[in-house]
Amino acid sequence: MAIVIQNATIVTMDDSMNVVTGDILIEDGRIAAIGDVEAPDGARKIDASGCAVIPSFVQSHIHVCQTLMRNCADDMVLIDWLQTRIWPYEAALNQSELRASARLAIAEMVLGGTTAFLDMGTVHHTDVIGEVVQDSGIRAHIGKCMMDYGEKVPDRMMENTDESVKESVRLHGVWDGAADGRIRYAFCPRFAISCTESLLRQVGEIAADLGAFIHTHASETEFENEFTDERWGMSNMSYLREVGMTGERSVFAHGVHVSDDDCQLLADTKTVICHCPSSNLKLASGIANMPRYDKFGVRVALGADGAPCNNNLDQFVEMRLAALLQKPFHGPTSMPAERVLKLATRDGAESLGLLSEIGTLEVGKSADLVVIDLDNDPGTNPGGTVYSRIVYACHRSNVRHVFASGNQVVDKGELVGWDLGKVLSDSREAFGTVTKRML
Ligand SMILES: [Zn+2]
Repeated sequence: MAIVIQNATIVTMDDSMNVVTGDILIEDGRIAAIGDVEAPDGARKIDASGCAVIPSFVQSHIHVCQTLMRNCADDMVLIDWLQTRIWPYEAALNQSELRASARLAIAEMVLGGTTAFLDMGTVHHTDVIGEVVQDSGIRAHIGKCMMDYGEKVPDRMMENTDESVKESVRLHGVWDGAADGRIRYAFCPRFAISCTESLLRQVGEIAADLGAFIHTHASETEFENEFTDERWGMSNMSYLREVGMTGERSVFAHGVHVSDDDCQLLADTKTVICHCPSSNLKLASGIANMPRYDKFGVRVALGADGAPCNNNLDQFVEMRLAALLQKPFHGPTSMPAERVLKLATRDGAESLGLLSEIGTLEVGKSADLVVIDLDNDPGTNPGGTVYSRIVYACHRSNVRHVFASGNQVVDKGELVGWDLGKVLSDSREAFGTVTKRML
């Protein structure tokens, strides 16, 4: 059925950053017209007066497996957080608990206008994450987290190198292109500290052969640079390039502790940095210098990371922080609202190789879009630019409708398709069983 979203402020995020007042026609899952649209007979009409329509958010670094640990791993630095909370939790997760965690994460993201994400996965049960994404109707690049080295890693998380690679290749075969192309596979070595050089080199070669994505954490803490400097006499980013991790289908989360040479390396190899401002603050990792990445021409994206280090999976929170964080260091105009909304939408789509399908509102593209209520919330009134209102003043509660591939996944602020009450009760039950097993 055709759908017409009427009387909206349409923030296209196209090459000219056009903002259009009018309607959007959705037919066969795609944007069929923008502007002054004559509604076809029988079309469903959605009045979006006082609302903005934007391309859906893309979060390029997420851990849907970790959601059950939300609010249970606070006030720690990264290594303690991983060794004492997150790895024991991930080691304990069974399939049904992982399913509950992934559903909770996706419900939260969808209600906040995110319909595409890149997931770091966990060591086991990756098929469950694929099944949940398939069922959700949204898009994701998913992958199995790979770990074959490190201290204080639970036995169940420590992998044999060849088996880790073999399982990743199997998962690529099953999930890359699944769900009508909504799911892509990314190879996900956790970070340099958790992986042998052999594993990283094999991943680099195999991903290049398969044309697959690579996702890892990089230079989140100074410790990663010390680690690679001690062993190989080079920075973490140089090491990752040396072992074949960099490239145009590589997305590195964080990039907080980098030199100018590292930035040049990232730009030269077209590697993406996913900025995760909440996570970097909460784990006391630092603040990524985003204007410097822009200056060097590094590709960038935005994401919430995992629920235990945030504690939300909300792109509005990340946008606001991304805008505010740079200002004390680089001046008030260093990260304007337009730039931040682009980071959260179009740049995210570009980072995942999806810009031909999503990331802007243009005729022919997939209808992955969000209707945001601006006029019925005292906190977003009375005026200002649409970018300012969305980036600085909006919250997840302003999201009214969300479409993914032309299917409505949020209607009047309510989840469509999934019973939110069950998602929540399942998550509480799974939290109870997994934490009992961790003891
Ligand atoms: Zn992460």
